[in-house]
Amino acid sequence: MNAPSYIGRFAPTPSGYLHFGSLVAALASYLDARAVGGRWLLRIEDLDPPREVPGAQDAILKTLETYGFEWDGELVRQSQRHAEYAALIERLLDQGLAYACTCSRKQLEGYHGIYPGFCREAGHATHDAAIRLRVPNAAYHFNDRVQGEYRQHLNQEVGDFVIRRRDGLFAYQLAVVLDDAWQGITDVVRGADLLDSTPRQLYLQELLGLPQPRYLHVPLILQPDGHKLGKSYRSPPLPADQATALLIRGLHALGQRVPSELEEARAPELLSWATRHWDAGLIPCRRTLDEAQLR
Ligand code: GLU
Ligand code: ZN
Repeated sequence: MNAPSYIGRFAPTPSGYLHFGSLVAALASYLDARAVGGRWLLRIEDLDPPREVPGAQDAILKTLETYGFEWDGELVRQSQRHAEYAALIERLLDQGLAYACTCSRKQLEGYHGIYPGFCREAGHATHDAAIRLRVPNAAYHFNDRVQGEYRQHLNQEVGDFVIRRRDGLFAYQLAVVLDDAWQGITDVVRGADLLDSTPRQLYLQELLGLPQPRYLHVPLILQPDGHKLGKSYRSPPLPADQATALLIRGLHALGQRVPSELEEARAPELLSWATRHWDAGLIPCRRTLDEAQLR
């Protein structure tokens, strides 16, 4: 059997309910997959139990269903994949590609989030320590389908980055790369807040000999007060009775022109229309969009 030519995914973190910004990311990944007859997978990125809002996982699934999204295959949770992440970390440590870091937050203050490499050669024990991946002294770049060329010099702009936190939790960067490859993802469509994570992910793919997916980063939605609708922002669940109106707004955010007849349509009908008319070329080439400016 040939590998399907398009496998997309939506990968929400249950640290809160879906908000309008995550709806826009879900819509874009869904439509981009379905428009070419591709598969669309759902993965819950529940790597951080202390930050998980109780009931958020169920609420996310419920909202996706009410809003007319149907995913393929079984739902995957990153909490089921700890053995794979742990094995990889062991391997990277054994190969000297990763090392233990005992720096405190305080010690790292003033470095603007760029790890200065204090523990690189220290040979610390790995218990009660964060694990960092050594980054090469090189720029990584890719051509985003919406944002264009994006480039980052890993050593100068990021530094060796954490793949397992000091409290033992696995880092997003590591898990996302392993899981996208394991699920055969060909196309990553997500919010532009992750644009600057992508070069780290490209490095991990290269290091592990994994294929590189295509990338499309949609504009991040800003609240009227300029607040980022991000992971840490606690917004209420998207109202079930406004599915059509919010989907239409989401489509506008993605530059899609929706005929007014569809304002009365039910969510599945609207999604099916949007699938048939999807044009990724209309997505605004911007990092952020103001929610207040959307109809
Ligand atoms: N779990 C991430 C989030 O909710 C998305 C990860 C991804 O799409 O790569 O922001
Ligand atoms: Zn350190």
